[in-house]
Formats: sequence, C-alpha cells, structure tokens
Amino acid sequence: MKKNTRTIPVTAALLAAVVFALSAAAQCAEYLSGIEWAEPKVIDPGSADKAPSDAVVLFDGKDLSAWTGGEKWTVSDGAITAGPGELRSKAEFGDCQVHIEWASAAEVKGEGQGRSNSGVFLMGIYEVQVLDSYQNKTYFDGQCGAIYKQHPPLVNACRKPGAWQTYDIIWTAPRFTQGKLASPAYITVLHNGVLIQNHFELEGDTPFDRPPGYKPHGEKGPISLQYHGNPVRFRNIWVREVKELEHKRVHEPKVR
Ligand code: MG
Repeated sequence: MKKNTRTIPVTAALLAAVVFALSAAAQCAEYLSGIEWAEPKVIDPGSADKAPSDAVVLFDGKDLSAWTGGEKWTVSDGAITAGPGELRSKAEFGDCQVHIEWASAAEVKGEGQGRSNSGVFLMGIYEVQVLDSYQNKTYFDGQCGAIYKQHPPLVNACRKPGAWQTYDIIWTAPRFTQGKLASPAYITVLHNGVLIQNHFELEGDTPFDRPPGYKPHGEKGPISLQYHGNPVRFRNIWVREVKELEHKRVHEPKVR
C-alpha cells in the first residue's frame, strides 16, 4: 500500500509534464498556406440607407441620371416608379453584388403574373423575378425571387403589398471563350435578408417562350429593370464589383 501511494503522484506528475510539453509543441506549430495575399481594402460598409463606400450608386432617391430608357419612368418621394420601356443602367458589371429595394403596389390589382410584375436583369439578360407573391399563387418558377422559368425561390419571403422589400444578389457572370460557354453563371439571392437562391447555376437566359440558353456576350452588362405593365417602385440601388484579391504562391503549404 505504502509503495503504491508514493508511485501514483510521481506517475501523475510525469504524465502532466508530457501533456504540457505536447500542448506547448502544438501551440508552436503553425500552418502556412504558402499564398501571399494582397491586403483587403478598408471600406465603409454603409448602413440600411447608405451604400458601402466602394459601391456604384445607381439610385439614391434623386434622379435617373445613372440610367437610360427611363423616359416614361418617374421619380417621386425618393423612389422610381416603373413605366413603359426598360430601364438600363449606364454602368456595366460582370461579377457583382447588387442591392435593390422594391415595393409592389399597395392597392392589389390583378393576379398571378399580373400582380406587380417586374424584374431585375443581371447583364440585361438574366432575370430575377419581381412579383407580388404575397397570397398570390402562380407557377413556382415564375413567382417572386425565381430565376425566371429555371428555379423557384427556396422559400416565399414576400412582404405585404406596398411594403418595401430588399434583394441582395451575388452574381457570377458566365464566361465564354472562342464563342463557347466556358463556365455558367451562378446566382445567390437574399430576399428581405432570407436566402432564396443558393449559388444556383443558370441554364442560360430567362425567356418566357423558349428554353433557356447561352449566347456569347461581353464580360460586362447593365442592370436592367423590367416594365410589365405594373407600377412597381424601386429605391436605394447600388452595385459592387466583385474581384478576387490578388495573390501568389510563394511556397508549398507547410507546418512550421
Ligand atoms: Mg418579370
């Protein structure tokens, strides 16, 4: 018994020392990716009604000077109201993040596709549907937040008619080489802060009357807003170009 009581504390102390030494060694080790990254730029992230400092502001409540085709679209009370014709941004974008706020008509008129129909077109070609889908059934791949005729929103996050709603869109442009599709477009959409499209791979453009398909086009295109006969309103529209950080490999990955 006596022998045992002396041995146990010594063994425990040794064990503690080994554990300490091992954990100290683990703390010293560091994984190094071997990639040298450019420093991320410091920006002002803005707020609910102010764009981030590195955004291209397309509409801040004042006028349509950043757009073309808006002869019959109107601006009042800090918002644009859709009119005949397609509103197209003068600036063009490839990979980008888009913030846009919209409101369906407060007075409910029409049903299905006829109720506050509009659309946000990336590169002027690929439509994220705008529709009053609050208690308003239509085909699912044509309801609010759908990639038109390709993919319904994952959930219906529509607010009541007349309420302001947000779309935050992350767009990866398709790439073409030598007249052929090299990589498709991808889109992620948050509607009122809720994820409704999760890195969806587009099959091509989004027409009403034929299957989707890709036709080669430039690296950049405008944001365009659709007029579908309904006085949908828009405000607080900005776009940020998305660019990968510059980086280079300076050595193979290692633990030092
Ligand atoms: Mg539409």
